[in-house]
Amino acid sequence: MNRLEIDLKKLEHNFITLKSLLNKKTKIIGVVKADAYGGGQLKIAEKLISLGIDILAVGYTTEAISLRKLDVKIPIIVFYPQILNLHELIKNKLEPSLYSKKIWVSFKNIVKEKKINNYPVHIKYNTGLNRLGFSTDDIIWIEQEIKNSPFIIKSIYSHLGESESQKPNKACENQIISFEKIKKSHENNGNRDIDFHILNTSGIFNYPNLQYDAVRIGIGFHGYANNNNWDKKLKPISKLKSIITQIHKVKKGDLVGYNSGWKAPKDTKIAVLPIGHADGISRSYSNSNTWVNVNGMKAYIVGNICMDMLMIDVGNILCNEGDEVEIFGQLNSANDFSKKNKTISYELMTSIGPRVKRVFLS
Ligand SMILES: *Cc1c(COP(=O)(O)O)cnc(C)c1O
Repeated sequence: MNRLEIDLKKLEHNFITLKSLLNKKTKIIGVVKADAYGGGQLKIAEKLISLGIDILAVGYTTEAISLRKLDVKIPIIVFYPQILNLHELIKNKLEPSLYSKKIWVSFKNIVKEKKINNYPVHIKYNTGLNRLGFSTDDIIWIEQEIKNSPFIIKSIYSHLGESESQKPNKACENQIISFEKIKKSHENNGNRDIDFHILNTSGIFNYPNLQYDAVRIGIGFHGYANNNNWDKKLKPISKLKSIITQIHKVKKGDLVGYNSGWKAPKDTKIAVLPIGHADGISRSYSNSNTWVNVNGMKAYIVGNICMDMLMIDVGNILCNEGDEVEIFGQLNSANDFSKKNKTISYELMTSIGPRVKRVFLS
């Protein structure tokens, strides 16, 4: 019925392409949070490991624990651990990113209690995104703490708020200046074996000179880089497919879907697809000029999208019940599709629900 086809060969292409943009020594941190952007965490992580990725990263501790189903020998970073999960994080040999004095002290106390030495951790600074991270005012405190801590500091990093924005970009520049200061200060304090990193996928294209020791790639592996020119170098790895359950003839003036969401402007045919907002095709795509691919032709979504179904106008398209329909993929990228709902590929892909079967092509 519905399926998300994920082409692991294209994932390999994206890996090789992105790696070719990096310096030889730059490490790649593969970001597989949110079920690897909806694509299936275990398979994608497994493929990245087979391609030689250096490090994996997820958002939350439970996501890292599910990765432990694989025999992962490389480090796994948890970007956003919560104080409540720290014991579990240690039990599963995960590497936390510490982002505040509170979580630093909590973690230090637990690690000391357990009499562990040299626990690997990462330090996250807030350089302007104003989300998570130590303030630059905390540098001296952190440097002091590092000296007496039971930790090994594996990396120090920050995150840009708009790495895809056209250069010159003041917000990015200020973040970069701030990160440079942080880096210098730590290096002057003898913190030499630490990796520094600030770039995500778009950053690799936009700020290739700021690779430092590592880059963090998520969306790029899926074939997107938030800019049409950069996207061209990559291949979208996933296609969302459905089928036509039923076709109706409707007359001019007939109503389609809940709350009379669409009134046929002329006699036409309506095809029903077994995919709805419970599967990640948000109700906001209703009547939004969004089309899907039916036998190579554009068929527009009409009426309000239901939980389990949506309707498309196939008045001018040769098609039959049982025909395959591509929601996004070949003709219509996830990026273009998502724009119809004023959102981004990240949200569309991570919203695809658990009823949609993930099918891997290798
Ligand atoms: C999600 C995430 C990334 C990956 O960003 P992409 O734009 O998907 O490459 C990198 N760094 C951090 C801290 C993240 O949370």
